Amino acid sequence: MSNRNILLVQPKYYTQFPPVGLLKISTYHKRRGDNVQYVQGCQSLEYDPDIIYVTSLFTWTWRQVWESIKYYKTWHPSSKIILGGIYASVMPDHAKYSGADQIRSGICDKVENMPLDYTLVPDWDGSILFTSRGCGRKCGFCAVPKIEGKLCKTRSSIKEYIIETHSRIILFDNNFLLNPHKYEIFQELNEYDKRVDFNQGIDARLITEKIANQISGLKLDSTIRIAYDSRKDHDAVGNAIKILSDAGISKRNIFVYTLFNYTDTPADFFDRTRDILNWGAVSYPMRYEPLRAITKNSYVSPNWTIEEIEAIQAARRVIGYGGAFPAYTGLVDKITNAFGFEDAFELRRVKEK
Ligand code: SF4
Repeated sequence: MSNRNILLVQPKYYTQFPPVGLLKISTYHKRRGDNVQYVQGCQSLEYDPDIIYVTSLFTWTWRQVWESIKYYKTWHPSSKIILGGIYASVMPDHAKYSGADQIRSGICDKVENMPLDYTLVPDWDGSILFTSRGCGRKCGFCAVPKIEGKLCKTRSSIKEYIIETHSRIILFDNNFLLNPHKYEIFQELNEYDKRVDFNQGIDARLITEKIANQISGLKLDSTIRIAYDSRKDHDAVGNAIKILSDAGISKRNIFVYTLFNYTDTPADFFDRTRDILNWGAVSYPMRYEPLRAITKNSYVSPNWTIEEIEAIQAARRVIGYGGAFPAYTGLVDKITNAFGFEDAFELRRVKEK
C-alpha cells in the first residue's frame, strides 16, 4: 500500500517543544511514499486521512486530547485514529474511552530510530535526540520506569540526528549519565559548534570530576539541572554542586529541582531548600503530581496542607525570581535564619489573606 494520506495532530495544549513522536512517524510514512500533514488542534481538512495520529502529553491535558479525537472522528468517521504519547502510555485504561480506534502505549519500536522530520516545524531551531531510553532507577514519583522500563536503546553516536542548520542540540535522555557510551557522546558534542541542553537534567549521584569537566567544556544552552528529592541525597547533591562549580560552572546556573508534596514534609522541604541556598545554587520547587492526575495541582499529600503548598507558590512569586529561589544574599539570610518552614515561607501571611 502506498500514497496514503497521514494526518499528525498535536492537541491544543501548551508545550515548548515540537511533538517528537509525530515527527518520527512523519519520517516513517514519508519513506513509504505517504503524504503527511501536521496540524495543531482541530483544523478543517478537504480530504479524509487514511490514518490520523494524535499525540498526548501530561495526563491532565487529556481533555484537549479527547476534544481533538472527537473533532476528527466527527468530520472524518472513516479515518483510523491512533492515540499515542505520555497520557496514552500512563493511562491506557482512561484513554480507551477517548474515541480513538487504537491506543499505543510506550515506545514504538518501528519509529524509534527514525530521524525527526523538521520540515513540519520549519521555525524550530534545535536537534532533539535520545542517546538512551528508560532509566535504571525506580523513583516512585516518576513515570519513566513504567513507560520505558530499564535503561535501554543506548547509542554511542548522535551524528545522524544533528541538523547542520540548527544552533542547539537538545538531549531528551531521562538519565543521560547512565548511558555507558556517554564519553563517546561528549566527544561528539564537542565537535559541534552548537549549544547543548541536557533537557531532562542530570543525575547528581553520578556526577564525577571527569563528567563535570566534560560538561563545562561544552557550550551550554541553559542551566544545568539536578534534583534533590530526598534528604538521603544530601551528600550526593552537595558534592555534585561543588564538583560542577570547581569545573567552572557558575552555581547561579545550577538549578536544583526540589520535590515537595510527595512523601516529604514541609520541614523536610525547608531543610533541602536551605541546604541548596547554602551551597550557593538555585532551588526550583517542584510540586508532586500523581502519575495518573487528571487535574493539575489538585493533589495534596497527607503530609501537607493546601495552605502550606500555597505558601510556597506565593513565596516563589514574592521572594523568588522566575519561580525559583536563587542564592542571593537576602534570601540566603532569610532562609538560614528562619525558625522553620512557616517562618521561612511566611505561612502566617498567606493564612491571613
Ligand atoms: S532517576 Fe530520574 S528518570 Fe530515573 S526514575 Fe528517577 S526521576 Fe525518573
